[in-house]
Amino acid sequence: MGINRELSQVLYDKASRIMPLGVNSNVRHWGEDMTFYGRRAKGAYLWDVDGNKYVDYRLAFGPVILGHAYDAVDDRVSGVIRSGVSLGITSELEVEVCQKVVEMCPSVEMVRLVNSGTEATMHALRVARAYTGREKMIKFEGMYHGSHDYVLFSTYAPPQAYGNRRDPIAIPASSGIPRGLGDLVVTLPFNDEEALERTLQRVGPETAALMTEPMMGNFGSVEPKPGFLELLRRKCDEYGILLIFDEVKTGFRLANGGAQEVYGVHADLTAYAKAMGNGYPIAAYGGRRDVMDIVGRGVTQGGTYAGNAVAAAAADATLGMLKAEPILSTVAKRGLRLQEGLKSIFKEQDIRVLISRHPAIFTLSFGVDYVRDARDWARSDREYYGKLAEAVMERGVLIDEDPREPWCLSYSHADADIDLTLDLVNDAVQALKVQGYPRGSVG
Ligand code: PLP
Repeated sequence: MGINRELSQVLYDKASRIMPLGVNSNVRHWGEDMTFYGRRAKGAYLWDVDGNKYVDYRLAFGPVILGHAYDAVDDRVSGVIRSGVSLGITSELEVEVCQKVVEMCPSVEMVRLVNSGTEATMHALRVARAYTGREKMIKFEGMYHGSHDYVLFSTYAPPQAYGNRRDPIAIPASSGIPRGLGDLVVTLPFNDEEALERTLQRVGPETAALMTEPMMGNFGSVEPKPGFLELLRRKCDEYGILLIFDEVKTGFRLANGGAQEVYGVHADLTAYAKAMGNGYPIAAYGGRRDVMDIVGRGVTQGGTYAGNAVAAAAADATLGMLKAEPILSTVAKRGLRLQEGLKSIFKEQDIRVLISRHPAIFTLSFGVDYVRDARDWARSDREYYGKLAEAVMERGVLIDEDPREPWCLSYSHADADIDLTLDLVNDAVQALKVQGYPRGSVG
């Protein structure tokens, strides 16, 4: 079986002469043979330029919470674009969006709109440094908080390179990151209370911020151990460190109030993006009034497009729908159906799989019974995941080829789409079994 990617190949050849790797974001490059190009998307489906149709579980890395080209959102956007998209002064719509964020997000008393998750975490970090008068930050291994230099440490590196867990090495994820920044970033394994306590004794008083995803939406959907987020909260208070939750992926997806509503632990500052605008480019950072109140009072933050009408209209429509209707509980119900179906498929074939908990965003890790952190995850069977991703894609189910990336659901994924997905995955798993996959200890 193969997939027709003729037109994609032609586009790839053209694009790679004028765009590095032929794409506008490194993670869209899947290699010379596998990189493909999209034409359109609607509801739960995406079509590539060759006309192949997929049930989409990548959902553009998470933002599409209602479904692609969702009419209620697009109609609101069409309604504003002829009245000026960037006014350069604040619009009523922006105030309305900020009001909704404050009402929905448990720890947000004041908020600013920006354009991307990267901007949101970058600004939150600057505010934390300004508020505390300290420079260091702590982050956890494997977590990606955007593409600014401050947080690109120990993200993509193979976990074997993280060093000993008693003394982790902060590994820059890219050439071009000033070496000196490494002195300001302390990396730790997630869920390791002992490493946290020891590190805080050493650097706590110099640390401005501890930034974390409440659950690792970018890395195996690894959950915090019971009590771990509470420990972070207590320790940050003890050392005068600001706790920043990166809810770029979990916000407006796990619950209307994001992971903070689910886990009941509140951050000082939070970054939001993705599901906030159903795929339109909008983000926000916000938090405690006394902390956010320093923005503009000696603390810089600007943005030509921040709060532009397209983004604000999309967010207002998306958040309005989430508030008014049981959208996320419906997504969760359908996600559970998918998770249960996947579990039975792998059980029937005697394939050991760990499916993470949250039904609207979850990850499959093969050959492991538990994953506490990025180091544990490295023991999972990535070869099998790669084969599976290819095989389901050939049959019309789109997941990321990177096993750390989650399967995401939208409100447009109906029960029938899930049943279709399960049939296609089942077929792929059986075909792989005939070819001898999984190999080794997984089965
Ligand atoms: N934080 C998390 C958890 C993310 O998943 C991402 C993007 O994938 C970012 C930050 C950066 O967001 P953006 O790509 O909008 O800059």
